[in-house]
Amino acid sequence: MAEMLVKIEPQASVSLPMPLLDKCVHCGFCLPACPTYVLWGDEMDSPRGRIWMMRKSTIGEAAADANLQKHIDNCLGCMSCMTACPSGVEYNKLIEETRAQIEESTSRPLPERLFRWMLFATFPHPQRLKLLGVPIALYQRSGLQALARRIGLLKLLPKRLQAMEALMPTVPLNPFRTLMKVSSVKTTRARVGMLTGCVQDAYFGHVNAATMRVLAAVGYEVVVPKSQGCCGALMVHSGLEHEAKAYAKRMIAKFEEAGVDTVVINAAGCGSTMKEYGYLLRDDAAWAARAAAFSARCKDVSEVLAELPIEAALAPLPLRVAYHDACHLSHAQRIHAEPRALLAQIPSLDVAEMAEASLCCGSAGVYNLLHPETAEELGDRKVQHLLDTHAQALVSANPGCLLQLQASLRRNGHAELPTFHMVELLDASLRGLSVESLLKRHNQGCRRDR
Ligand code: SF4
Ligand code: SF4
Repeated sequence: MAEMLVKIEPQASVSLPMPLLDKCVHCGFCLPACPTYVLWGDEMDSPRGRIWMMRKSTIGEAAADANLQKHIDNCLGCMSCMTACPSGVEYNKLIEETRAQIEESTSRPLPERLFRWMLFATFPHPQRLKLLGVPIALYQRSGLQALARRIGLLKLLPKRLQAMEALMPTVPLNPFRTLMKVSSVKTTRARVGMLTGCVQDAYFGHVNAATMRVLAAVGYEVVVPKSQGCCGALMVHSGLEHEAKAYAKRMIAKFEEAGVDTVVINAAGCGSTMKEYGYLLRDDAAWAARAAAFSARCKDVSEVLAELPIEAALAPLPLRVAYHDACHLSHAQRIHAEPRALLAQIPSLDVAEMAEASLCCGSAGVYNLLHPETAEELGDRKVQHLLDTHAQALVSANPGCLLQLQASLRRNGHAELPTFHMVELLDASLRGLSVESLLKRHNQGCRRDR
């Protein structure tokens, strides 16, 4: 009744397709799956509450104002609500469209705009990240980082900069080294293109190298197009639609030139975005069909590897690991069984499951930089579940999750617990590495095998 009496004159509202909004029947099954609802218990920070606000704004009963912006910003975009929803609500489309429209219609305070500008000016640019890697490597290897952490100097920084420092990966000594060519086995089963990524390319070159070796070992010819740039995931998740479309078009053209049937991706966030290019560019007459065809060719590395039996010998890795589901793999791409099936092929590897496995670790793209307190809470929760498994290492399939969990482990006094991308373990097993040498290489920050 109060709603009928108080007539709001919205300055601007969002406008979302009613068929998408109508799919939500307000049942609430998604609430326990939502990390922000689990933490705060606030309906407006649940999927149901957010969809309700989107609807109110779409029918003109609420403005696209700072309040809506706050609850939409709080969403991690983990898509856990989509897995939990029995009505098939396409929350990914709703949140991305809402974010794009909010960015157009509302402004943010200057410090917020500056911080976001800094993120977008660095993260989607592998060359800039590599350049930044030089001072970061000096900071890390000169002992300055250890000193600053020990004496608590970093606590003087604003919280977001503290988070940035805590999440920094161990940067390779020479981030500008390029991927080595990896020769495939003689009978090539198929030709695939590989995405190198932004953060993955700059700071996780060892994961890209391991991916190439594993693909080659099972018989794929791997093509790595040069100057691929960014897939646009960060832009899509932040409502920067125009920029995201430009990145998508560039990526499509690059891989079309390479003439590959499959595009292999080893970063979950990039994979889920690239599989949605068809939707992103659906209204662009010149690109819609190309984007849809490209998206159909994109596959996570675990999907590609699961298609062909691994015929090469796999050496035992007697190690107990906990597998962490990256949200953009398990929820956004519904890839759950494949990584587990691949790890199960490694003799003597014991794979443990964690409690609350479907709950986000707090990484969520740049969420852990924009909302460090919430991200830390989720990271600490995940670490506790990890420790409960008594695993000797953590395995995941997304660089963002690995960085988030490394920082969470350090914060909780377990810096010694190693983290690996799933392909690193397959690679070690295919190469016959012992557990000792795998852990030693990890402990030494051995990132020189690119
Ligand atoms: S999003 Fe799905 S699970 Fe959540 S309230 Fe709506 S219909 Fe129910
Ligand atoms: S995407 Fe994740 S954080 Fe956002 S509403 Fe859905 S479950 Fe909650």
